Amino acid sequence: MARPSNRIANLIQAKDYKTILEIVAEFHGHYCPGIALGVMAAVSSLESLNREQVGSGMEDYLAVVETNNCFTDAVQIITGCTFGNNALVFRDLGKVALSLLQRDSADPTTGRGVRAIVKLDIRAALKQELPEFSRLFEEVVIYRNRAPQTLLEYQKIAKTASRRIIDYPSTELFQLTKSEQKIPFYAPIHPTVFCDRCKEPVMSTRARNDAEETLCLPCSQVPSFQLSGQGIEQQRA
Ligand SMILES: [Zn+2]
Ligand SMILES: [Zn+2]
Repeated sequence: MARPSNRIANLIQAKDYKTILEIVAEFHGHYCPGIALGVMAAVSSLESLNREQVGSGMEDYLAVVETNNCFTDAVQIITGCTFGNNALVFRDLGKVALSLLQRDSADPTTGRGVRAIVKLDIRAALKQELPEFSRLFEEVVIYRNRAPQTLLEYQKIAKTASRRIIDYPSTELFQLTKSEQKIPFYAPIHPTVFCDRCKEPVMSTRARNDAEETLCLPCSQVPSFQLSGQGIEQQRA
């Protein structure tokens, strides 16, 4: 099954990484080194598998990311493995790495493909090549200076920095190796039940039952988890 649009696949074939970067920036909201690295990791992984796309988001291919920062947005757009179609797996490991794995048809919990891990210290490289970027990055991203003029200057130089990154040979950016990994089984479909307290519909596996009632996690005061800028963390009810 092919994806409804082959726009990205065509751009990969044409090696038009600049336009791919633009598409990702539009989705992500800004240009930054993170999306540029994500573009190059996704494109290099696809190219090393001799593909322009990986299926249609039906969990035949999985993208495994080890960080939930800017990088991951590029991975989702380019590979089509997303949070919503369950073909994106997030491992909370804090490494800028992408694995692109094809599910084994005989053993669906084994995936084979490649893993790209960023090896270049991109912040140090940019500090040398584009010192103005490093200065503004510190001011805007680390110290959260949001003065309109500074923000504008930062956005401009961040675009230059991300374009610089997509010009690097991928061998300088990543270590790309063949990889075989354990992967989650296809996403299950669970029945819906109703919480007796808030009356909201909830997936049965996320409800708590005792003799008297069925409760959703917030109503039962059971700690649940959320994926946020902090990674996977427990959410207090
Ligand atoms: Zn970003
Ligand atoms: Zn409830």
